[in-house]
Amino acid sequence: MLKFDGEVSSDIFVGLTQLQHRAHDSAGIATFDGLSYHLHKGMGELPGVFTEDILRSLKGSSGIGHVRWTTAGDINVANAHPISGIFRGEPFYLAHNGELTSRENLELSFSDYAPEISTDTKFVAALISNSRAFTFDEALREACTVLCGTYSLLVLYKDTVYGIRDITGNRPLVFGKTDHAFILSSETVAFDVLGGRLIREIKAGEVLRLEKGSKEPSSFMLLQTPVSMPRKLQFCLFEMIYLLHPASIFLGRTVERVRERMGENLFYEHPLDADIVIGVPDSGRAAAKGYARISDIPEEEGFIRSHYAGRMFIEPVAKRPYKLLIKLRTIREVIYGKRVVVIDDSIVEGRTAKKVVGMLRDAGAKSIFFLSSSPPITHPCYYGVPTARIHRRLIAKDHATNIDVIRQEIGADYLGYLSLEATVDSVIETIPVVEDYPCLEKDDFCTACFTGIYPIPLN
Ligand code: SF4
Repeated sequence: MLKFDGEVSSDIFVGLTQLQHRAHDSAGIATFDGLSYHLHKGMGELPGVFTEDILRSLKGSSGIGHVRWTTAGDINVANAHPISGIFRGEPFYLAHNGELTSRENLELSFSDYAPEISTDTKFVAALISNSRAFTFDEALREACTVLCGTYSLLVLYKDTVYGIRDITGNRPLVFGKTDHAFILSSETVAFDVLGGRLIREIKAGEVLRLEKGSKEPSSFMLLQTPVSMPRKLQFCLFEMIYLLHPASIFLGRTVERVRERMGENLFYEHPLDADIVIGVPDSGRAAAKGYARISDIPEEEGFIRSHYAGRMFIEPVAKRPYKLLIKLRTIREVIYGKRVVVIDDSIVEGRTAKKVVGMLRDAGAKSIFFLSSSPPITHPCYYGVPTARIHRRLIAKDHATNIDVIRQEIGADYLGYLSLEATVDSVIETIPVVEDYPCLEKDDFCTACFTGIYPIPLN
């Protein structure tokens, strides 16, 4: 974020609170006050990492912040972002969403660089730090000629903040503005909370530069990227299914509307005869709304969710059974004696689905039809969503062609998934709220976790 006047740290903190649903392993903010840099980072969620005194100590009108969900490397404070480097004697800071692939050469070249850091982002810092370029812009450009994988990067270098999106646009990055600041963020909800508005998405392969004193940002394109990187859009489909906040606008569309459309298409593919439709809070709710609208089956609030429980999928495995118990409560009179269509956004390990079915049975449901508003997740993600860590436990890994095994495992009377084609179509069919948003094509999406076809080389 670059503020035209005044201190930036509190605004960054407030913006980050709107992104906490994406990650909560660690958090950090780096600022620049015209003379010096200030950095604070720590483990866990934002309120535990920052106090008012700490925020006050982060002086300056330019800065970047990050909440981390661990993909590469260990979960420790050395790996918390922003990660620092030094270019021509001047520090800079980086925050990264995504994951670098084909890292062997980088690991060999920079085996001695910052040994305390084990995350892939350090290679970006190492490339820039070791660059012989004369300008920082050139050093960034050079680094991106060798980076393979996915990255949306924020970079703080003196009074300038950069936003960089890799050539596939896999991870989101949006640009917004308030009356007092330019903002770069993974999601538009971070602008909303600050009274800002979306200007546009950062283009795939674009470097946007926000400079102190400049009324408008400037940008340049990454013209040279590794030949192994596809010169083709590969938006992460799972962002639309699960990761993005429902109120965010991405790919020109409001995420909530896309998920409702997934629910409508779910009915076209699984037209069930039932008494009520229930969405598993929170991200199954929009699809339930869409399913109910098209089917004329009433949508009911069958579950009440505790908002203190967080998101299951980003929880460490050891904590999940406990979290699952406190997360959801059923409303018995809504469910008792009913044939229930229950919809969740996805089925990852199947533990949540099994628990949900068990709770509905306990509440007296007559029949339970479980629907997923996305296809079976069969493969790990290596592009920034850390399902590689739970790959062996993906319930559809061995049973995608025989989902009756999964149905039995979760205990439902019926199990249905939205097809991959309909999932992609749901995004494309949703009417954009951004004027003149470019047409999306069916092959503009990464679908590797549903197909095992990885568009960006892994090695
Ligand atoms: Fe997104 Fe799945 Fe592709 Fe990873 S593999 S980028 S989660 S669609």
